Amino acid sequence: MVPWKKSEPENFKNAMDLLVADRGGFYFEPKVGIHDNVGEIDFSSMYPMLMLKKNISPETVSCECCSDSANRVPELGYNMCERRVGIVPKVLKLMLKKRMYYKEMRNKASDPEERRKYDQRQAAYKIILCTCFGYLGYRNARFGKVDAHIAACAFARKTLLDTSKLAERRGFEIVHGIVDSLYLKKKRATDKDFIELCREITDYTRLPISYEGRYRWIVFLPSKTHFGVPVLNRFYGVFQDGKVKVRGIELRRGDAPNIVQQCQNEVIKDLAEARNSREFAELIPDALSILRKYADRILNREVYLADLVISKQLSKDPDRYVNSVHQAIAARQLRDHGLEVMAGQTVKYIIVDADNRRPERRVLPVQLVDTESRYDVKEYLKLLVDAIYTMLSPFGFTREKLMIRILGQSQSSLN
Ligand SMILES: [Zn+2]
Repeated sequence: MVPWKKSEPENFKNAMDLLVADRGGFYFEPKVGIHDNVGEIDFSSMYPMLMLKKNISPETVSCECCSDSANRVPELGYNMCERRVGIVPKVLKLMLKKRMYYKEMRNKASDPEERRKYDQRQAAYKIILCTCFGYLGYRNARFGKVDAHIAACAFARKTLLDTSKLAERRGFEIVHGIVDSLYLKKKRATDKDFIELCREITDYTRLPISYEGRYRWIVFLPSKTHFGVPVLNRFYGVFQDGKVKVRGIELRRGDAPNIVQQCQNEVIKDLAEARNSREFAELIPDALSILRKYADRILNREVYLADLVISKQLSKDPDRYVNSVHQAIAARQLRDHGLEVMAGQTVKYIIVDADNRRPERRVLPVQLVDTESRYDVKEYLKLLVDAIYTMLSPFGFTREKLMIRILGQSQSSLN
């Protein structure tokens, strides 16, 4: 009964690609800038949950036995089978149950080790569940069908739209929404207001939704290349209890050097003291002095080389790079020293002289660093400024302005 082979090859896409790039995805563009009193609500396992509840499976979408089914795909009107439970929902049911069980055990556990164990288990299920949705749209999947994937997306879009309408009716403004999370703002709204909203949403959608908490303030960031254009899922904010949440900036990325991450971290920690956007504004001068402190360390060559290491994954074999990007140069140097380096590996290097006419002198892989190695001050200053620019661009700071703050007017044109 298992299909032997399916032809029609299609490139594999992960769930995120399908959600964001595909027309199937649905989101509310973030409102760039700082917001007070924003609450975050997340549907848990929204897509798998919808696949289970709406019986979404390759053989249940537009089935032949239930052409007058009451279970219809929103917008598209496809009928969904009412007589048989699909194979995909059958499988998902058990996994969703297990994930919920592990989450519950995690929340109950008092021993941190136990807690960690259960958390990892529920996280593993989260990934498997997410993959189940992604796989549904993969043409070579034995149990995949693109219509089933489209149906899941249509149900998800409707869910987010319904949810946003419910929220707006209660006076909330949607400041950002992506995949299965919504960021809602309402003046003077309390935790209770958000919890009540969640209850109403669950009653209406029949899907579990959790209230993640309220941010004292949250900053949604614009694109770095297109001024003023918002970017999905790039923000930083502080919850009422002081917990910081950061997405999509250097701090979270494995490739940025320590020195840059440390500086960003310290700036966020400092800003986290602010209870609202007004206090945030008052702390910006502090943030700038932190930047200056780190810049001075770079300028005075006080930074350990270990804190300047950049890690980049090779997307292709070293020889296949057309441009002399830093990771390719570093990889070639390693190979010249007899090391085998290929696509998929991560190379670690420091920038020694970015403008050197000979590419092999621009960077140095960590394996070849010694006590004589010198780093490129200007290049690391630029990386540092860029990281703080990422955070402060909604407040009227440009890279040039920040450079002037560090070096003074006269020297700011270092390049
Ligand atoms: Zn049917």
